[in-house]
Amino acid sequence: MSNTLDNKILGKPVADSIMQTTAARVANIKAKTGKTVCLATVLVGEDPASHTYIRMKHNRCEQAGIASRHIKLDDSTTTEQLVATITELGADPDVHGILLQHPVPKQIDERAAFEAIPVAKDVDGVTYGSFSRMWFDEPGCFPSCTPQGIMLLLESANIDLSGKHAVVIGRSPILGKPMAGLLLAKNATVTICHSRTKDLPQMVKQADIVVAAVGKPEFVQGDWLKEGAIVMDAGYNPGNVGDVHFDSAAKVASLITPVPGGVGPMTLAVLMQQTSLAAAQQLGVTE
Ligand code: NAP
Repeated sequence: MSNTLDNKILGKPVADSIMQTTAARVANIKAKTGKTVCLATVLVGEDPASHTYIRMKHNRCEQAGIASRHIKLDDSTTTEQLVATITELGADPDVHGILLQHPVPKQIDERAAFEAIPVAKDVDGVTYGSFSRMWFDEPGCFPSCTPQGIMLLLESANIDLSGKHAVVIGRSPILGKPMAGLLLAKNATVTICHSRTKDLPQMVKQADIVVAAVGKPEFVQGDWLKEGAIVMDAGYNPGNVGDVHFDSAAKVASLITPVPGGVGPMTLAVLMQQTSLAAAQQLGVTE
């Protein structure tokens, strides 16, 4: 399967292929155990964007044959109530993955709620346990979905990361930091940049691979790049633009992910993949 067109790395063909493999795994689990793979989603409050994200996740579950159990809690939920709900899902043998939609209302200690998710069911890679295992390159954990999606895109384009200099712009717990750990595990030399980094263009100029996870529209400019660099744009901003100025970057990059259609489709496909893998592990099903 080729997922590159001109110098673009396209996410949809890779995401489609992951969804197909996932649906087959889900069907195999059903055939061998009689159990339906189940993802529980927990949403606290009324944030309209969060409602949309949850709906998209449920649609993807349906496509893969994964059952979704949705827990909706009101705005005034306390940390204790949320932790109790998640703990119950953690103990339920019919639930294989748990996703707490971020953000939660201000009165809730989000970290305490995340930590109530057992590592085996942490299909979104949000717990300390998952994160530290990922850094130690240990099995038995799932990485954060978007960085893992970027890794799968690099793999699908046959990019050997060993010895390459990767510059990650952004250090958030869901994107920049796990991205750096995953690249390091594949023997890239990794630099993490952030808002206090001095002379960012000069840093980016040294990169064989640039991952932009900044949250600023069209921030990374083509003239910051080394000729032939590979550019992975995790950004998704209003107006359907990424964190990279696509037109100028595409003239210099050897490969680049467009926005939309690059990294975007990967996140939910990876969530489905990881939910099916979690179920297979919990139910002792090998492929
Ligand atoms: P975030 O939590 O806001 O983190 C942004 C990071 O960028 C921070 O580490 C920040 O540095 C750094 N930064 C901000 N301004 C900078 C500057 N001028 N120079 C260098 N670094 C700067 O964002 P996020 O959640 O990681 O998301 C990043 C992007 O990915 C957003 O566009 C978001 O929409 C997108 N995203 C996409 C998906 C998907 O499914 N495709 C999923 C999640 C996020 P400090 O730490 O110093 O503040």
